[in-house]
Amino acid sequence: MQIVRRPLAPGEANHELIWLSVSSGGLALAATWLALKLPWPICLFHALTGRPCLTCGATRSAIAFFHAHFLAAFEWNPLAFLCYCGLSLFNVYAFQVVVLRAPALRIVRLSASERKFFRRFFIGLLALNWVYLLLANPSL
Ligand SMILES: [Zn+2]
Repeated sequence: MQIVRRPLAPGEANHELIWLSVSSGGLALAATWLALKLPWPICLFHALTGRPCLTCGATRSAIAFFHAHFLAAFEWNPLAFLCYCGLSLFNVYAFQVVVLRAPALRIVRLSASERKFFRRFFIGLLALNWVYLLLANPSL
């Protein structure tokens, strides 16, 4: 795997702008939803099985995260908490690339074995998170 830091090439997709926009838009939408006191989304999997799905607790984790209650955010859904941490770091980085014109980071080479490793690592994280949710079941 090789990560390079370089300016965007002409015509190259600006992932930093795209994902910073999606992240900011999603945050604004969620904040508006909660401010209007609209009903929270219901988990169909949990309603049918009585067990949490992979993303159960992610909304409560986000609310705790944005109130700086990080331990509570972790307890609601550890993987969602890690995603919010990563997304926060990415947004700081993306802001620097988009607004301050800092060079962008790009992965230029990823071997088949590295792809396989990342795929297994991600599936393992999902499985571990689900085991935690099934055992701890913080949503009940
Ligand atoms: Zn769920």
